[in-house]
Amino acid sequence: MRYKTRDIGEGGIDLRVAVSEAWLAAECPDASFGLSKTGICLEGRLEPAGQGYLLRGMLRGELLVPCARCLEPAPVKVEAPLAVSFVESKQGDDPEALEPQDDVLLIEHGTIDLSRPIRDEILLAIPMSPVCRPDCAGICPTCGRNRNVTPCGCDRQAPEISKFGALAKMKLQ
Ligand SMILES: [Zn+2]
Ligand SMILES: [Zn+2]
Repeated sequence: MRYKTRDIGEGGIDLRVAVSEAWLAAECPDASFGLSKTGICLEGRLEPAGQGYLLRGMLRGELLVPCARCLEPAPVKVEAPLAVSFVESKQGDDPEALEPQDDVLLIEHGTIDLSRPIRDEILLAIPMSPVCRPDCAGICPTCGRNRNVTPCGCDRQAPEISKFGALAKMKLQ
C-alpha cells in the first residue's frame, strides 16, 4: 500500500493491489467483516500531477458482512472509483496536526500511502443494514432460531393472543 515517490518516476506506475485479510484486520481492528473469496483489488495508476501525484483507480470486490437479520455472512459488493491527490508536506508541517481534505492527502517522508483512501471506500461500501438475501427470515425473537435454517412455529401464535396470555398469567400470580 506504500510507494516511494522516487520509484514512481515521470511516467507513473500501474497499480494492481490486492487487499489482504491481514491488512483489513490491521486497518479496521473493530470490524466484524471480512473478505469474500472474490477478495478486493485496486486497479489504477499513480502518476505525477502538478506539485504532487494523482491516484486514479477502481476498487472492486466483495466483503462478507454479518446480516442484520440473521447474523450469517452477507455478501456486499465494493465498486468504488478512486481519485486522490497526494501533495508533499511542507517542512515544518506536522502531518498529525493537519486535517487533510478527503481527496488530498500528504506525502510523508517521500512515501505515498494508499491505505487511508482504500479503507475509507471499503467502510463507505457497507450499508447500514446489510442482509444476506432480500427475503432473509432472520432470527426468531421468541425462540432464537435462525428461521432460514429451522423454521419455527412461533409466528403461528398471533402476537395479540400471546400478549393477553402473558397478562392473564401475571394476574394469576
Ligand atoms: Zn440473513
Ligand atoms: Zn421461533
